[in-house]
Amino acid sequence: MQISRRAFMALTAAGTTVSAFGLPAFAESKGTIGIAMPTKSSTRWIHDGDSMVEQFKAAGYECDLQYAEDDIPTQLSQIENMITSGVKALVIAAIDGTTLSNALANAAASGIKVIAYDRLIRQSPDVDYYTTFDNFQVGVLQANSLVAGLKERFPDAKPWNVELFGGSPDDNNAFFFFDGAMSVLKPMIDAGEIAVPSGQMDMTVCGTLRWDGSVAQARMDNLLASNYADKVLHGALSPYDGLSIGILSSVKGVGYGSGDLKMPIVTGQDCEIPSIKSIIAGEQYSSVFKDTRELAKVTVALVDAVLSGGTPEINDTKTYDNGNKIVPSYLLKPVPVDASNWKEVLIGSGYYTEDQLQ
Ligand code: BGC
Repeated sequence: MQISRRAFMALTAAGTTVSAFGLPAFAESKGTIGIAMPTKSSTRWIHDGDSMVEQFKAAGYECDLQYAEDDIPTQLSQIENMITSGVKALVIAAIDGTTLSNALANAAASGIKVIAYDRLIRQSPDVDYYTTFDNFQVGVLQANSLVAGLKERFPDAKPWNVELFGGSPDDNNAFFFFDGAMSVLKPMIDAGEIAVPSGQMDMTVCGTLRWDGSVAQARMDNLLASNYADKVLHGALSPYDGLSIGILSSVKGVGYGSGDLKMPIVTGQDCEIPSIKSIIAGEQYSSVFKDTRELAKVTVALVDAVLSGGTPEINDTKTYDNGNKIVPSYLLKPVPVDASNWKEVLIGSGYYTEDQLQ
């Protein structure tokens, strides 16, 4: 069979090789990458998964992408199946960062490279690399935004009454976010500029298992009922948009945001669509944008370098001790988002279309 020069050019441009017989021979796959994501209940992980599949495919790999709906045994068995099926590398955003050690030992024994994606995998020597954002800085940005909002909305109300929410205690990131935020808030609490009427100020009491918005909502209900009979809540530190939406429902339920009870300043993270709509509507105060397309890009480049025998690019070799070793990491920069810049950051970068936020 003869093919025209035009068709030949089109096929080669598309990455298709042409055999000695003039027949197209599709480029051989470089192998399958197992991608284990925690849940589809938060859209950020859907974006992460989709971006990785797209970019791994463009780099010549196939993908086995699985979501575990925040169920630890499901994620473990998904990873075990990926190992058995002979994936070349595993990219894992763990639900519980400490429960994967045995599976990862099997992966290492089979020569499978393991990349902790966004969340550190703890207590295992078999984690080769970690790609994430600067998680301490995320917390700093959240606290800075909380303070800026308090100054703007409640200039005369000092001390500001604030309640603190943390993420899931089985996710290492939750501690980095909280510590980053407290590096800004603790000195202000000590100086009497911020009060925490509940007295609840550490992760053992502020953590929110599985990042569940309804758990945060119920805790906010309790905090309001027990501590705010004669006080006004001015702000809540929230580390994730899903929690922020729960906290906002709780405060709206007792009248904040109407009459002369102003909406408290509520922070967030991930720039999920309901939260950006809420920011546009003047309810949630801020979020933090972590461009999942960039995280996917860094991760795909890193995996490709490792599998091709090259040296992957990393930019941090100190911060992430997983209890067993310091995992070489690549940290991306988080970006604060509020009513003043959501358009420029989210629409300008093509992350969302204007229609999605209507
Ligand atoms: C991620 C955050 C996310 C949270 C809840 C964390 O590990 O870093 O971006 O908000 O999990 O899904």
